[in-house]
Amino acid sequence: MAEIIDGKALAEAIRSEVAAGVSNLHSRVSARPTLAAVLVGDDPASHIYVRNKIKACEQVGIKSESHYLTASTTEEELLSLIANLNESEDVDGILLQLPLPRQIHKVKALDSISPAKDVDGLHPWNVGLLVQGRASLIACTPLGVLQALKRYNVPLAGKKAVVVGRSDLVGKPLALLLMHENATVTICHSKTENLPQVVSRADIVLAAMGKAAFVTEDFIREGAVVIDVGTTVLKSEQEVISIFGEGKKLDDFRAKKTVLVGDVHPAAYAKSSLYTPVPGGVGPLTIAMLLRNTLKSAEMRKGERLTL
Ligand code: NAP
Repeated sequence: MAEIIDGKALAEAIRSEVAAGVSNLHSRVSARPTLAAVLVGDDPASHIYVRNKIKACEQVGIKSESHYLTASTTEEELLSLIANLNESEDVDGILLQLPLPRQIHKVKALDSISPAKDVDGLHPWNVGLLVQGRASLIACTPLGVLQALKRYNVPLAGKKAVVVGRSDLVGKPLALLLMHENATVTICHSKTENLPQVVSRADIVLAAMGKAAFVTEDFIREGAVVIDVGTTVLKSEQEVISIFGEGKKLDDFRAKKTVLVGDVHPAAYAKSSLYTPVPGGVGPLTIAMLLRNTLKSAEMRKGERLTL
């Protein structure tokens, strides 16, 4: 029977560790880590994400400040705010919530964040350090996945890991982290030939595509570990029925009129030895790692010994 990785419980444990690290830092330097969240525009989902991140900060003793800018904000105005936050002695981490309105160049805005305050780990400086296997701020979702694998004692050295997805946010940093753990890593993407065959050779499958239940039974070797990073919101009952048939997903859909699903089909989970569900798997870990990165950045900036 496949075992479930309980992302909520893991995230709770990590939050407690961060809370202890925050109070430790406070007792040493009389300062609390501070996260500045920047949100441009009115995207309702982005507002919910930022609110949740701020709430999570409060729960572990991290201070936060929110900067809500209108949808008509110019690139120059945003860059000027980020420059001020970079300069501010009081700010340890800067979170720029995506997506940004069209008039703002995403890469330019992300690159303007000081690497020392880049808690999302997306700045090319931090990505370069990750490539070299040096300590840096690393993207939260891949970090969360690695924590899940380690805390469930999944052996990585010498194992075949197949990452499906090659984005800068998830696939690439995840593959690099696994490589540094001595896994033998294959990266797949939309142009990969014979995808099910390539994936079915894996000891550990990491799906990060954003394609609802795309990874079916025939992708998974019996007993493999399956990490489902993908999240898709299904909004049509017909679609839910055609992918999942009768059962929990359909019940959830009927209760809420939408349902969150992963990249992996339930029949594929069933073939695994261990897997992350959606929801309740990788998602909660992402926010926990944002908190951890904010503490790390505060410790690095204050020249303190790292607690994590
Ligand atoms: P992305 O930038 O859209 O990247 C998707 C990747 O999947 C691309 O590399 C793409 O290949 C590949 N892909 C798409 N269709 C494919 C197919 N049919 N076969 C093989 N590969 C395919 O997305 P992302 O930002 O990496 O996010 C991936 C998923 O993770 C999304 O569902 C996102 O919502 C979810 N996510 C979840 C969390 C969390 O906390 N749970 C955090 C971040 C992201 P190409 O490069 O060839 O186009």
